[in-house]
Amino acid sequence: MSDLFDGIHEFENLTRDAILDWLREDDETKLERLWHASNLVRRRFVGDDVHLRGLIEISNHCVRCCGYCGLRFENKKIERYRMSADEILACAHQALQMGYGTVVMQSGEDYGITRDWLTGIIRRIKKETPLAVTLSLGERSDEDFKAWREAGADRYLLRFETSDPDLYRFIHPSLPHRESDRMAILRSLRELGYEIGSGIMIGIPGQNYRSVAGDIESFRSLDLDMIGVGPYIPHPDTPLGMPDTPTALPDDEQVPHSEEMTYRVLAMTRLVCPEANIPSTTALATLNKASGRELGLQRGANIVMPNLTPSQYRVKYEIYPDKACINETAQCCHICLSGRIESISRSIGKGQGGRKRERIRKEPDMH
Ligand code: SAH
Repeated sequence: MSDLFDGIHEFENLTRDAILDWLREDDETKLERLWHASNLVRRRFVGDDVHLRGLIEISNHCVRCCGYCGLRFENKKIERYRMSADEILACAHQALQMGYGTVVMQSGEDYGITRDWLTGIIRRIKKETPLAVTLSLGERSDEDFKAWREAGADRYLLRFETSDPDLYRFIHPSLPHRESDRMAILRSLRELGYEIGSGIMIGIPGQNYRSVAGDIESFRSLDLDMIGVGPYIPHPDTPLGMPDTPTALPDDEQVPHSEEMTYRVLAMTRLVCPEANIPSTTALATLNKASGRELGLQRGANIVMPNLTPSQYRVKYEIYPDKACINETAQCCHICLSGRIESISRSIGKGQGGRKRERIRKEPDMH
């Protein structure tokens, strides 16, 4: 490992205090060192390939009342949809045609997505295509996770959003009779043999610098395969999106939900988890539509997630407003993102693009 940090030793084994200093650093010349180091480490550990994950937003129904998300149950302004099995399969075939190695099925926490229904869809995708299947469906039961893993699902994404327990409870209320414990769910998913992904939002009202430094340290201790970090974007139809949220901190303690702060967190995430798959997120592209994707890829990221959701549904999957690419077709996203990757002299990854690691992955227990 030390050879791989050759010439940039100050970034090896970053302590929480060092992370904190970088989050608060305002000298542009010094920040250039951070961008440079994260790009170098990205290249040394995961190379120049950018892997494409086709995103299918399969349902916007949700039972939860997260304070930040436009899909929350109490938002009566959005029209709800759930894609049919055939529509989802058509998207998976489109992913294959476009050369993607993975499809990601994402939704609100929707119990209309039953265990058996999704099992059938995963089986069909695995039978008809060589794609890796990633799920991002919220906090489901161990029985659901097990059935989906046995059907062939490879990866699961569940952001812990913030490692500050009080802030988490405030922005992400538990369901009655079931405490939300995303860290425990991530451990179960790993036990079942999934590659696991998590991450945070940056600049949630009430999120201070020390807690973001703690989030970055947690990425290291959880040994995540995938890590998504994106700016928090206020949604006017949510409690946190209203002016003067009760959790807001004084300006010098509140982490800003800015493009610049997102790059700092992204860069340090790459430095503490050199082998992880890290996307340049749509939320980041939403803040800088001209070059956010590219800058993310040049400051640590190695993944992008082109959207495959059919246009009539895509506009209804409004987790935050003014989302980048909301009015595009799958074909446009494909051409646009491929062009952006080539424009910064990076290559498009072939195959499933799973995490490269020494550890042998556990196969699903079929009994
Ligand atoms: N229901 C699934 C998928 C949610 S959408 C789940 O809860 O895991 C995926 C991610 O979008 C969330 O984990 C959250 O980090 C992000 N997100 C939601 N609302 C957002 C907002 N207002 N601004 C930025 N990111 C948001």
